Amino acid sequence: MSQVYDRVALIGLGLIASSIFWASKRNNVSGHIKGFARSEQTRNTARKIKLCDEVSDSLENTVTDADLIILCVPVGAMEQVMVEIAPYLKSGATITDVGSVKRAVIDAVEPHLPTGVKFVPAHPLAGTEHSGPKSGFASLFDNRWCLLTDHKSADEKAQNNVMSFWKGLGANVEFMDADHHDLVLAVTSHAPHLIAYTMVGVADDIGKVTDSEVIKYSAAGFRDFTRIAASDPTMWRDVFLSNKEATLEILGRFTEELFDLQRAIRTGNGDKLLNYFSHTRSVRRGIIEAGQDTEAPNFGRNIEPDGD
Ligand code: NAP
Repeated sequence: MSQVYDRVALIGLGLIASSIFWASKRNNVSGHIKGFARSEQTRNTARKIKLCDEVSDSLENTVTDADLIILCVPVGAMEQVMVEIAPYLKSGATITDVGSVKRAVIDAVEPHLPTGVKFVPAHPLAGTEHSGPKSGFASLFDNRWCLLTDHKSADEKAQNNVMSFWKGLGANVEFMDADHHDLVLAVTSHAPHLIAYTMVGVADDIGKVTDSEVIKYSAAGFRDFTRIAASDPTMWRDVFLSNKEATLEILGRFTEELFDLQRAIRTGNGDKLLNYFSHTRSVRRGIIEAGQDTEAPNFGRNIEPDGD
């Protein structure tokens, strides 16, 4: 494909930034890519593994001639980074981000946007429990969604370019209102992560009593929880603190339903349980029929003990 941008700057060099770099090189989506990370250790690692065409030690030098600047830092660090780069952005440049929460990032970036710089907030719905410069890979975004949000500073051209960029990396792209994004993600990602963190915490408490039986006899469901609960602590702290209202709304509904099911178990209300589980099974069928997942057992993964 033809390159969408001549010069791209990646701020933060972790899982998402490194995957953007490798996918961009694989598909020739952009020209020169310069990267910056706050720690010398990450910058040195990036240089060693040839992550980025150039790794700079200065934020100013990284962004000054960039056509597209991608903020790939935790949500809570977006404002500080924006304050630091704002004086050096060239007029006509586009800022985008990859933050897992959209309203908080818009509120953090907007006050510091220089005139003539466009902002196209974005969130690729793809990730793993690993982090850091060595964790990225070119296929991370293949066939995954990237959600973009309108912003008053951006014109159609800036939005179309960011859309082409993400399509070029392999993703499917759609626009979504920022608040709606935050509610949808609270349901599909943020609340489930908190539940996984909690379940692993509970199991760990029990594990201390039963001497590691929790790990030894861990079934696939719980192993999936432990994988989710191994996700980056800083990133997830920031997600919960910055998507507070939507997450609390969903967790409130979750606990109401949980108490309801708890009562059904205590009172022996089998009909209630059966109806509830039949309904959730039909939700799963709907996901498969919509082509969003495979019907194969264990999500199509190898079910050998070491298979995942
Ligand atoms: P990561 O692998 O942990 O990398 C984070 C990068 O940000 C590192 O280079 C780190 O620098 C830098 N950083 C951390 N705190 C900073 C601060 N206070 N100031 C400046 N730089 C800082 O994280 P990631 O998984 O790529 O996540 C990056 C963003 O993508 C987050 O906003 C996250 O919400 C979003 N996201 C993540 C996923 C996922 O599954 N991981 C999926 C979609 C979107 P050092 O290495 O020098 O410490």
